[in-house]
Amino acid sequence: MSRTPTIGLEVHVGLKTDRKMFCSCPNDPGAAPNVNTCAICLGHPGTLPVPNRRAIEHVIRVGLALGGTIPAETKFDRKNYFYPDLPKGYQISQYDQPLVSGGELQGVRITRVHLEEDVARSLHGADTFAAGESTLIDFNRASLPLMELVTEPDFRSAEQVGEFARELQLILRYLGASDADMEKGQMRIEANVSLDMGTKTELKNINSFRAVQDAVAYEIVRQGEALDRGEVISQETRGWDEVRRVTVSQRSKENAHDYRYFPEPDIPAFTTAPFDPDGLRAGLPELPAAKRSRLQHEYHLSEAQANLIAGDEALAGYFESAVSELLGEDAGAPVASLYNYLTSDLKGLAVEMKREVTELVQPAHLAHIVALASTGELTSRQAKDLLRRVAETGDDPDEVMAAEGFGSVDDGALELTVKSVIDANPQAVSDYQKGKTNSAQFLFGVAMRELRGQADPAKLRAAIEAELVGRG
Ligand SMILES: [Zn+2]
Repeated sequence: MSRTPTIGLEVHVGLKTDRKMFCSCPNDPGAAPNVNTCAICLGHPGTLPVPNRRAIEHVIRVGLALGGTIPAETKFDRKNYFYPDLPKGYQISQYDQPLVSGGELQGVRITRVHLEEDVARSLHGADTFAAGESTLIDFNRASLPLMELVTEPDFRSAEQVGEFARELQLILRYLGASDADMEKGQMRIEANVSLDMGTKTELKNINSFRAVQDAVAYEIVRQGEALDRGEVISQETRGWDEVRRVTVSQRSKENAHDYRYFPEPDIPAFTTAPFDPDGLRAGLPELPAAKRSRLQHEYHLSEAQANLIAGDEALAGYFESAVSELLGEDAGAPVASLYNYLTSDLKGLAVEMKREVTELVQPAHLAHIVALASTGELTSRQAKDLLRRVAETGDDPDEVMAAEGFGSVDDGALELTVKSVIDANPQAVSDYQKGKTNSAQFLFGVAMRELRGQADPAKLRAAIEAELVGRG
């Protein structure tokens, strides 16, 4: 029996700031445990929180990038609950006046985006240096700025969830709001899954896009089969078992929490005008979707090529600056060739040398090498060798060519080499005369090695054939 999945997401994102959300402790959760703490983020009585301006701007910019509305006034609220990672007994969050309302991404409606503080990190059992069942708490993460984005239940498939999450990550990176690395906990995704608008289960504590997508796909099947058997879906939180590849019940949610939200008394409601939303909107970078479509139109890239380039903002910047250098080369603008050198040869070198593509070779140098190859001044073998030498030395390609004797071998040198190779291999010559034409290929290999791979292959082959025929 076919049922319609209904999926909504809650996404938490750790924001990129120098300081914590309400105090001046550094935003550095990876430091030695509990070094980045103070009376404010440890929740001592009588302390006063001061909101982080940069974090507020990040959330407004994310909202604007997603087409959301920034209200004239916003406020923080206290969400009250007890947990060992929250010594204050409440979390400062936003309840009924979030920083962003509405918006849309890939056809999925955004309900709201708000700002809150993160909680401390609990390290259980084996994660700690302490023996046994103990739990240790690291407050470096306590009160770090945390953005929460909530969608409407508009997703209909696991694939759609995966695509949305990856695009959101890319937008956050373009905006410089977060690195949004799921494996590092900088982006945490919870999915609410139900069938035919029935009872929802909540999937959480999943730490990769792949796992989120797999967990949602599994949950759709699991609920469908349970309903087919006439069972009732229970409202619960489920996690993902990566080894068994199943979702597993973590806790029942039948008793919904009542957080007793109330306005944060230490931070009065405030207007958003001083954050200059119009100015922030004007300062937004070109976003991934716009960049993809422009790359396709401007440089005639395919959709897949544009996706690959736009999938990394630094790579896109590098590509465009190399293209503009290439246009100055008067080589007929071989952008397709540049794309190939960049995404295959240079990428390969970067992997091999364990460096970033964008820092390996200057864009102008790559453009120059591509131009030399496309005008035939270098064979593609030579161009690839030159690219490697430029990557290794960081030197200008023309200087490397001059110093290392790159460039087409002149006709005189080619002819001399062919003659000497043929003189030195009488057996191959007589084989050739007996009709074993593959001995010409052998001579070609020997001659090319002598010429250090720098001869034009077609020219060399022709010279060898001519010499062999002349001696026949
Ligand atoms: Zn602090």
